[in-house]
Amino acid sequence: MYGPDGRRYLDLISGIGVSNVGHRHPKVIQAIHHQLDKYLHLMVYGELVQAPPAELAHALTQTLPPHLDAVYFTNSGTEAVEGALKLAKRHTGRTELISCHRAYHGSTHGALSVTGSEGFKRSYRPLLPDIRHIEFNDFTDLEHITERTAAIIIETVQGEAGVRVPENNYLQALRKRCLYTGTLLILDEIQCGFGRTGSFWAFEQFGIWPDILVCAKGMGGGMPIGAFIAPQPIMAGIRSNPVLGHCTTFGGHPVSCAASLATLRVILEENLLAGVAEKAARFRRQLVHPAIREVRGQGLLMAVEFDSYDVLKPIIDRALEHEGILTDWFLFCDNSLRLAPPLTITDGEIDEACAALLRAINYVTGQ
Ligand code: PMP
Repeated sequence: MYGPDGRRYLDLISGIGVSNVGHRHPKVIQAIHHQLDKYLHLMVYGELVQAPPAELAHALTQTLPPHLDAVYFTNSGTEAVEGALKLAKRHTGRTELISCHRAYHGSTHGALSVTGSEGFKRSYRPLLPDIRHIEFNDFTDLEHITERTAAIIIETVQGEAGVRVPENNYLQALRKRCLYTGTLLILDEIQCGFGRTGSFWAFEQFGIWPDILVCAKGMGGGMPIGAFIAPQPIMAGIRSNPVLGHCTTFGGHPVSCAASLATLRVILEENLLAGVAEKAARFRRQLVHPAIREVRGQGLLMAVEFDSYDVLKPIIDRALEHEGILTDWFLFCDNSLRLAPPLTITDGEIDEACAALLRAINYVTGQ
């Protein structure tokens, strides 16, 4: 990235997990240009079939287990979460929704209701009723999922909690519990999907599948788009009584869909997934320092933990101002540095980034 003064910055956060294929990937730009020259918004989505959303929906379902065969496009992640929650209530006839502490699912009222931070919610109550939170990775908490529960929404790998990876087959136990109680499992892959963790979808690495999947962010290659994806029989619920049980003017915008389809193809055809684990390992090998307590992560979704925010914040500032390295912390984990570079980052750029970060850490900690 370049500042207004022409100064060069190395982006290690990808606009929070958006620029997975890098900034302005030529194939994404070409797809956008191509669509711009054809048409922009035509009709409210759903009234006429348009090629860009139809082609993208087809390509998305090709990456998924066969039961996930209906795609509803939104403009953002939080809207995709809204749609998924509505689907779950409609399909099960139940009202209770469960999510995890320190989960982030979005800022609109429904998504905020299932976000796991009271500090974020307090000023906006009352929110949705019948919400319960459980601890991520806690097997005993799974008992709170019962025949009353419409859905549990969970990030396959928690992002804003500071990158928390599911342990010891936790997700498999969760999947089992949901099948037992007839609860729908909604996986939020808004941050961890689209190749971020090294597989196209993060859930592929944990031997489970969702009933409803939500995605956004990296999906658009820099354009705004999200989706909730479900089996046809579940999706059918919002088609009748009322007819437009969920509608959106701009969701599935042709330009965003064209960009997203190009992004999906770039990830698969340029084999970006194959390099993710080795690139993550290259970061981990170099990010060794007495001030670093831990490096957590799954693929190129990583967190580097320090003692406190007071140690971390000056490191982030120093890295940005003196090294031209853009990092961040997490909404619900302020002692950890966010690392989520484009999947296209080169070995040379990783080495440059790590050396710069270590210089910033040394400067701040006086080591
Ligand atoms: N879920 C997760 C896991 C996210 O990380 C985010 C965004 N940080 C959202 C939902 C909300 O997405 P958006 O900002 O596009 O509404």
